[in-house]
Amino acid sequence: MDGCIFCMIAGGVIPSPKVYEDELMFIISDIYPKAKKHYLMIPKKHYKLLADMTEGDAADLSRCLKKLPDLAEGLGLTNGFRLIINQGTDAGQTVFHLHVHILGGEELPI
Ligand code: 5GP
Ligand code: ZN
Repeated sequence: MDGCIFCMIAGGVIPSPKVYEDELMFIISDIYPKAKKHYLMIPKKHYKLLADMTEGDAADLSRCLKKLPDLAEGLGLTNGFRLIINQGTDAGQTVFHLHVHILGGEELPI
């Protein structure tokens, strides 16, 4: 998608080290971390919002989420992690390519 920063990272146009990558998604560290460990899990397919997902996209996202517990230790998230999906401007979404924030590495405030 033209002008989408996460599509540009996916395609290597903007360099950003990928801490994990498979055929469906990649994981990078957030450039402005809000916790000791703050990653973004980004589906390779561009869609803006949960409402824009096809059934296939939903199945793929589910498969991505299922992988996270196995990846957690390697990401320094041994004691747990929090997942956040910001939807729309009220939630503070700034990049309109669906992504999942993964926060942890410390005890997080409620
Ligand atoms: P949102 O606010 O849309 O839920 O989250 C977007 C996130 O992307 C923000 O936490 C922001 O810090 C992060 N971000 C924006 N641009 C870049 C970038 O170029 N590289 C990385 N690694 N993170 C970015
Ligand atoms: Zn995109």
